[in-house]
Amino acid sequence: MSISLFQIFSIGIGPSSSHTMGPMRAALQFITDIENNGRLDEVANIRVELFGSLAMTGEGHGTDIAVLLGLEGEKPQECDPFSVQHRIQFIINNCTIHLLAKRVISFHKETDLIFHKGRRLPYHSNAMRFKAFDEFGAELYKQIFYSVGGGFILDHEQIFAPVDEENAADVPYPFSTCEELLSHCLHEGKTIAEIALENEKTWRSEEEIRQGILKIWSVMQDSVKRGCATEGILPGGLEVKRRASSLLRRLENGPTQDPSYVLDWISLFALAVNEENAAGGRIVTAPTNGAAGVIPAVLHYYLKFCEGASEEGVIEFFLTAGVVGVLYKENASFSAAEMGCQGEVGVACSMAAAGLAAALGATNAQIENAAEIGMEHNLGLTCDPIAGLVQVPCIERNTMGGIQAVNACRLAMHGDGEHLVSLDQVIKTMYQTGLDMKHQYKETSEGGLAIHVPVNIPKC
Ligand code: SF4
Repeated sequence: MSISLFQIFSIGIGPSSSHTMGPMRAALQFITDIENNGRLDEVANIRVELFGSLAMTGEGHGTDIAVLLGLEGEKPQECDPFSVQHRIQFIINNCTIHLLAKRVISFHKETDLIFHKGRRLPYHSNAMRFKAFDEFGAELYKQIFYSVGGGFILDHEQIFAPVDEENAADVPYPFSTCEELLSHCLHEGKTIAEIALENEKTWRSEEEIRQGILKIWSVMQDSVKRGCATEGILPGGLEVKRRASSLLRRLENGPTQDPSYVLDWISLFALAVNEENAAGGRIVTAPTNGAAGVIPAVLHYYLKFCEGASEEGVIEFFLTAGVVGVLYKENASFSAAEMGCQGEVGVACSMAAAGLAAALGATNAQIENAAEIGMEHNLGLTCDPIAGLVQVPCIERNTMGGIQAVNACRLAMHGDGEHLVSLDQVIKTMYQTGLDMKHQYKETSEGGLAIHVPVNIPKC
């Protein structure tokens, strides 16, 4: 340990944390390194090569767009989603790019940004190679980055010895397994959220943590509101219709005696977020973009339907869900290119189940049980997005994740916390299952629905 909660939940834009936010951060890091070495003025040409899953599904996931914006100095948390299309069109039409908004060079997207389909670099499927050249064609600088899930990036050196100043900090309650985390709770007489809060104080004051969490929550709420208010067809060519707004109308006007009514609301909240994500809107990684709807859906369910729900409960939810996310990040991965969708929607479901249980006053053992159930029934879940777009099955899958999380929480809270399979065991199982999974089912769009549902998307 440890990774901060604010690395697990980060504000950005859709449609993908590993294929959009990670590449944007990598491109920004690359060009910033050149500037920090005082060589930005010498750069006359940039070449970017994408490998593995980034090459296979990068066009549908907006990787090319993200790289261009990163080279121009954009950060995911600050990027204005409404200006993106216009800026990209400007780069393409004028064959120029404005490095860090400081230096204009020629840039031909067709030849300077290459998708190496069918090729991958060792170590990780989501690899990017950046090179900068001077006016005589001499190489000034090169770097390889890996987008390892949830918007996290590592460069070539870090992939061997990951070092991150924030991670390297000494937290008061270090743990690498849930067993160790629960042992801290037992010795200190604290809840999981209280231990998480103490560790977070390594980096921020309690007030900053509270405000930071509420900021994340407000971005999630905004994404639900925008998703519920927007109609039309999602971009990308699949002609997927946005459904959240019409579902909201039906729920507001329909009968409320139907016992399945609550399930429809959970689905609505998840649809709203993931339609926003698919449209490239502002969302929060939770822990990824593809799975960004599960946690907001469960939090909205908590506030709308659970007696005694409060802002304190929301904060407890985030602290607990965040710590569960850290366990997956440290012991497995939430990269779909490594783990399939069990690493995205499965992890989000597990985090949400734990967070909800905490907000509802569950014991630490029940919370651990909820997180475990949330993953156990997502083991083996594959990633096979049709046409490489984060739309089908992704959007509906978040509705399933949200409903499963509520069910996992309820099952755990009907028990006394005693259970056979531990969270640590299910995380290990998920990791091994991900390693054993064929690459066709790990964000390559070469298997599953992606090949059994043929589509014909015209090239623009
Ligand atoms: S199928 Fe799951 S893991 Fe794959 S892109 Fe969609 S949400 Fe992400």
